[in-house]
Amino acid sequence: MTLVANITKVKSRITAAEISRQHSDEPVKLIAVSKTRSADDVRAVYQQGITEFGENYLQEALIKIADTQDLPLTWHFIGPIQSNKTKPIAEHFDWVHTVDRIKIATRLNDQRSEPALNICLQVNISAEASKAGCTPDELPELIKAIAQLPKLKLRGLMAIPAPNDALAFQKMQRLYLDLQAQQPNIDTLSMGMSADLETAIAYGATMLRIGTDIFGPRIKPAVQN
Ligand SMILES: *Cc1c(COP(=O)(O)O)cnc(C)c1O
Repeated sequence: MTLVANITKVKSRITAAEISRQHSDEPVKLIAVSKTRSADDVRAVYQQGITEFGENYLQEALIKIADTQDLPLTWHFIGPIQSNKTKPIAEHFDWVHTVDRIKIATRLNDQRSEPALNICLQVNISAEASKAGCTPDELPELIKAIAQLPKLKLRGLMAIPAPNDALAFQKMQRLYLDLQAQQPNIDTLSMGMSADLETAIAYGATMLRIGTDIFGPRIKPAVQN
């Protein structure tokens, strides 16, 4: 019951934020972040009409993906990527949001078969030492390199702005619009979590990654890669 109420509440927050945003009319897509949750939890959320799921930890994700093979789900890898882990990511996910260097992009491309892997470039927009992501200055070179990789389909940008860094959301929107002006098929700004989805939508986010406000607080520590 809680799950149903949680999802209803998240959806109404999204609708309200969509109505009050000013500079975008792109649809906002909801990704349920299922890290630390069971395959049965994923099934329960799927029953409520959500088909896109995000995972941070590879080993945990691979088990869950295998356990839900009977469902038509789309899987998004949203965790930090070590270069020795790219092969299973390329083989089992539909999207990777956390590409931040050419070495990782090249490996994902070489290890992917069909169809092309949807990717977002992660930008460390609040310049946090502990966070993955490229700098805004590094984006042009990465974008150019990815254009040469046929098994990767660049969809847009991803960021995890620091709490209370409203300027970071605005900077991401600017980077996103600049990229879209160069490549009109770019359609994804992956930004916004449970605590900041309204701010993210106000600044043009098209994909939200929501864990806690769908599944409830995380109790179990995540299994590490
Ligand atoms: C855990 C996580 C989320 C979801 O965060 P909540 O605050 O639980 O909604 C979103 N994005 C990334 C990259 C995460 O690691």
